[in-house]
Amino acid sequence: MSTFQAPKGTYDLLPPHSATYLAVREAISAPLRNSGYGYIETPGFENVELFARGVGESTDIVTKEMYAFETKGGDRLALRPEGTASVLRAALEANLHKGGNLPVKLWYSGSYYRYERPQKGRYRHFSQVGAEAIGAEDPALDAELIILADQAYRSLGLRNFRILLNSLGDKECRPVYRAALQDFLRGLDLDDDTRRRVDINPLRVLDDKRESVRKQLTGAPALGDYLCEACKAYHEQVRELLTAAGVAFENDANLVRGLDYYTRTTFEFVHDGLGSQSAVGGGGRYDGLSEMIGGPALPSVGWALGVDRTVLALEAEGVTLDIPAATAVYAVPLGEEARRVLFAQVTALRKAGIATDFAFGGKGLKNAMKSANRSGARLALVAGERDLAEGVVQLKNLESGEQTAVPLDAVVDEVRRTLG
Ligand code: AMP
Repeated sequence: MSTFQAPKGTYDLLPPHSATYLAVREAISAPLRNSGYGYIETPGFENVELFARGVGESTDIVTKEMYAFETKGGDRLALRPEGTASVLRAALEANLHKGGNLPVKLWYSGSYYRYERPQKGRYRHFSQVGAEAIGAEDPALDAELIILADQAYRSLGLRNFRILLNSLGDKECRPVYRAALQDFLRGLDLDDDTRRRVDINPLRVLDDKRESVRKQLTGAPALGDYLCEACKAYHEQVRELLTAAGVAFENDANLVRGLDYYTRTTFEFVHDGLGSQSAVGGGGRYDGLSEMIGGPALPSVGWALGVDRTVLALEAEGVTLDIPAATAVYAVPLGEEARRVLFAQVTALRKAGIATDFAFGGKGLKNAMKSANRSGARLALVAGERDLAEGVVQLKNLESGEQTAVPLDAVVDEVRRTLG
């Protein structure tokens, strides 16, 4: 062990387990790539103001959890705590929204950072795959994103997840509701912190998990009763489209999410096998965000799915992904001359696209065969001086133990044939 350890709240992805993470990223992005979403990558840090304005000054993410710092040049930056604000910033900066081809549909995959209290499923460095559809107000777009996330989870073999759905209203009806909710909350027995939250962002009080608060919330005005006709109609269409697509969801009037920018459709994917950190993904519509960060009006919708928690959900359901072994062929040279000859064969096999590894470090036969078995390879190529004198190598099937001599110039073809 070295003197150093991974920082608190982080962990390393190591083989063979790390292959599952790659497969999860692949599975989440596949439906997006298949639906007109283009890949975008943005820096790991941004101007801190982008998140303060975009995510919201009063949110936990901005007030407590952001890794913010000042550079030697005096810039105030923050490690990105989420993806949407950065993606929208990048799209606006590159004028992707101009030229009439809306919505701009983008997907991303990367690391995010929040200074949270670490526990299982909650880390300070975590990984998300996300999607944003920028510049269109269309219930079919909201439905599309929810359907694609559902498809992604199902393609991984997950079954025990639920989709929670709500509408947060728009700039017409939300302020009316907000005022009514504030009136109600100001009559409750709340601590100073929560009272401040009532002033700044009362909807988030509905999301308070403490029993002392929860029990006082019975009878709170419901947002659903305040939605304007346009929001109601919009939400109804989203629901109809999901139902028509066979995607089941639950209406959850308390789903407000922890970010300020959401309007209308909000949704969360929760998994019942994960304990308290049950949200595996979430998202919604953010019609006002572009204007909040200095852009034009661009109604948009998006989601981010957590890779770490999706892996935990797979474990909770006992799903093992069918990941092919990294190595198909393992070469074992016996002696100096065999090393040279087999190394050339290894290079040729790799060029032919066959995943091949080599017993490095002058291992003896026994140790080398152990490594071959551990690598998951189906075939071993073994050669000693006598084989080379005859111009052959031994091709050993590691499953059946069967062994055949193959002429040196036929190795690639024979390996390909045997692997099928
Ligand atoms: P949010 O932007 O908070 O809705 O996060 C979207 C998804 O990212 C969540 O549903 C989680 O799966 C994942 N996520 C958020 N924060 C963390 C964290 N601290 N550790 C692990 N995963 C997280």
